Amino acid sequence: MTVHTEDKAGVHGAGSAALHAELVRRNPGEPEFHQAALEVLETLDPVLDARPELADARILERLVEPERQIMFRVPWLDDRGRVQVNRGFRVEFNSALGPYKGGLRFHSSVNLGIVKFLGFEQIFKNALTGLNIGGGKGGSDFDPHGRSDAEVMRFCQSFMTELHRHLGEHTDVPAGDIGVGGREIGYLFGQYRRITNRWESGVLTGKGLDWGGSRARTEATGYGNVLFTVEMLRQRGEDLDGLQVAVSGSGNVAIYSIEKAQALGANVLTCSDSGGYVVDEKGIDLELLKQIKEVERGRISEYAERRGASATYVPGESVWDVPVDVALPSATQNELDEDAARVLVSNGVKAVSEGANMPTTPGAIAVFREAGVAFGPGKAANAGGVGTSALEMRQNAARETWTFERTEGELAAIMRNIHDTCFETAERFGHPGDYVAGANIAGFERVADAMLAQGLI
Ligand code: GLU
Repeated sequence: MTVHTEDKAGVHGAGSAALHAELVRRNPGEPEFHQAALEVLETLDPVLDARPELADARILERLVEPERQIMFRVPWLDDRGRVQVNRGFRVEFNSALGPYKGGLRFHSSVNLGIVKFLGFEQIFKNALTGLNIGGGKGGSDFDPHGRSDAEVMRFCQSFMTELHRHLGEHTDVPAGDIGVGGREIGYLFGQYRRITNRWESGVLTGKGLDWGGSRARTEATGYGNVLFTVEMLRQRGEDLDGLQVAVSGSGNVAIYSIEKAQALGANVLTCSDSGGYVVDEKGIDLELLKQIKEVERGRISEYAERRGASATYVPGESVWDVPVDVALPSATQNELDEDAARVLVSNGVKAVSEGANMPTTPGAIAVFREAGVAFGPGKAANAGGVGTSALEMRQNAARETWTFERTEGELAAIMRNIHDTCFETAERFGHPGDYVAGANIAGFERVADAMLAQGLI
């Protein structure tokens, strides 16, 4: 990259704005990556001012450039014997703190820009866990919805036939994300094992409990986000018990956010999918939701049909119209925009915490900041998933199996630590209560120090 910051106003004088302009120029057609990078860069000037050695070493210019980007063809046969062709991705963004770590997303919207935004976020998220994992992300524009198990298996086998050469427990360790759950991880692990002839359990996380998976991994992202929310509320002298909560999405993150919020006494009123949302005045019936989503792989419109009078399905509208105290966006990127944020604020929302990656648009974050709403950015609030993946890697390396209680206890400690680190860092740099600045600066400092110590690579 040719950003000569000293040409402008001293070694770090050109700052984040010039770097972002250069990033947009060099990475055309990747709006989500631009957005994720800007959200981080615009909070880092205080730390660059305080530590000129980081600017001298061009840490930021190196950080926004992935260490390696892999794109590949994924041919497979559908059930009618026709050839299908998808595109596979793995962006190995940064390994200063450990092997590349991050999920795989299978969804029709996946492209290089999406994978880069997710991989970039993952660097800071993984640093915040305090564990030794670098940042990476991958996936494909393959959509498992409506595909048979046999089709999903053939796709996963073809995907892994190429990807395996880039993976390893000390190199790159994928997991799940949207469209990749226990079924897909199983097929991917089987193919990796077959090709390499190695029982290398630490090469993937989110595995089945009988073959190297960790207890509490399935629950970890949702549970962790609720625990982070509890910490934010506690800072303000409030408690989740008795509050009204809106959750968006109905996948793994949403389901286990609902479970933990209910266990802590909250009333969770909503869930959603791409067709609309459900509002249930009696609170979401989790057993019914799990049956429809996890067992039948159905749509949430069926939830309202089977639940009875308390539930209504609202097609095509925003779940954020429902008046609540706490909002947990847990579906996908940019699902909560400025208008939705204004509605939530006018309904008196106290806390918003991101279970999904970048679900809140920059305009919406500004609305929450202005209104003094506690806002937990995904790279801090949803880090419990990848944090528990790192615990799975630890169990695999030691050939151990921990109890649910032990694993959940470690997850709770990780989430408390992330909260406190973000809170204290924000205060130290003059942005009290700003978890966005706190998360970005704390994650950045940990990666930057490791990069500095390891020389120009
Ligand atoms: N996809 C999840 C995330 O966004 C989990 C990644 C992992 O466990 O490696 O953090």
